[in-house]
Amino acid sequence: MSEQAAANGEDMHIDPQRAKLLAENLNRVTQRIQSVSNGRKVRLIAVSKLKPANDILALHNPSSSHSSSPGHLDFGENYAQELTEKSHLLPCSIRWHMIGALQTNKCKPLAEQVANLYCVSSVDTAKKADALEKGRAALAERLASQSSEGVGNLRVLVQVNTSGEESKSGVELSEAVELCKHVREKCAHLQLAGLMTIGAIARSQEASGPDGVNEDFVALRSTRDKVAEALGVEKEELELSMGMSSDFEAAIGQGSDEVRVGTTIFGDRPARKDAKLKEERAET
Ligand SMILES: *Cc1c(COP(=O)(O)O)cnc(C)c1O
Repeated sequence: MSEQAAANGEDMHIDPQRAKLLAENLNRVTQRIQSVSNGRKVRLIAVSKLKPANDILALHNPSSSHSSSPGHLDFGENYAQELTEKSHLLPCSIRWHMIGALQTNKCKPLAEQVANLYCVSSVDTAKKADALEKGRAALAERLASQSSEGVGNLRVLVQVNTSGEESKSGVELSEAVELCKHVREKCAHLQLAGLMTIGAIARSQEASGPDGVNEDFVALRSTRDKVAEALGVEKEELELSMGMSSDFEAAIGQGSDEVRVGTTIFGDRPARKDAKLKEERAET
C-alpha cells in the first residue's frame, strides 16, 4: 500500500452504524453549543484520545459513510505519541490539538513531525514553549527546502491552573503574564492564541448548567484580561479554551471560545493499555 493511501485513511474500515451514532452525537453537541452561544463562534474540539483512528475518520470524512454533513476538522489528543501516530494514518486536512499534559522532551518532535498540528493547548513552562518553537522552526525550514506551501506559526494556549490543585497542570495564575510574554517575544514560530484551563471537578459539578458560574472560568477570564493589558493587545485576540463534556454550556455562558468534548461524542474511553490505534474490520 502506498504511503499516500495510508495517510488518507483509504484503507480504513468504517462501520456505518458506528459512523451514524458518532455523527448524531456530534450534531447534538453542536446544537447544544449553538443554543447557548448567542451567535458567537465557539470552536468544538472533538476529543478523540484513546479512541481508534476509524472514529476520527468517520467524523472527518463523512462521505465515506454516506452522510451529507461536512466533515469535522478539530480533534484533540492527550498523548504526543498517539497524536503523532494518528496524524500519519489520517488525512492532513485534520486540525490536531494537543490538549494533554506535555513532557518537555516530547515537544520538539511533536511540533516537527506533525505539520497539521493546529494548536498546543497545554503550554505551562517556558522550556516547553522553547522546545515547541525549535520543532516548528525545523518543520518550517524542512518544508521551505522542499518548496512546498510552507507552514504558518503554531498556535499555542498557555494552560493556567485556576483551581490550584496539585494534580492539575498549568501555570499559577500569577505566572501567566510572564509565560505569555515569553511566547510572544521569544518564540517567532509560535502564535499566542489564548489561555486554557480544566478546573476543579467539584466546581464544574456545582455550576454545570448554562447559567452556572464556575470560579475557575471566572479566574481564567480575568487572567486573560490581565494578559491582554500587559501585552497591549485586544482581549478578543486571546481566546479562552474552557469547558468539557460535563460543563461546556456553563463555560460558553462565561465566555469560552473553544470547548473540548470527548465522552459525550465518543462514549466512555478504554483504559490506556487497552486503547487501539486502529480498529480492524470484524470478521463476518
Ligand atoms: C479528556 C479531556 C477532555 C475531554 O473530557 P470529556 O469529559 O471526555 O469531555 C477535555 N480537556 C482535556 C484537557 C482532556 O484531557
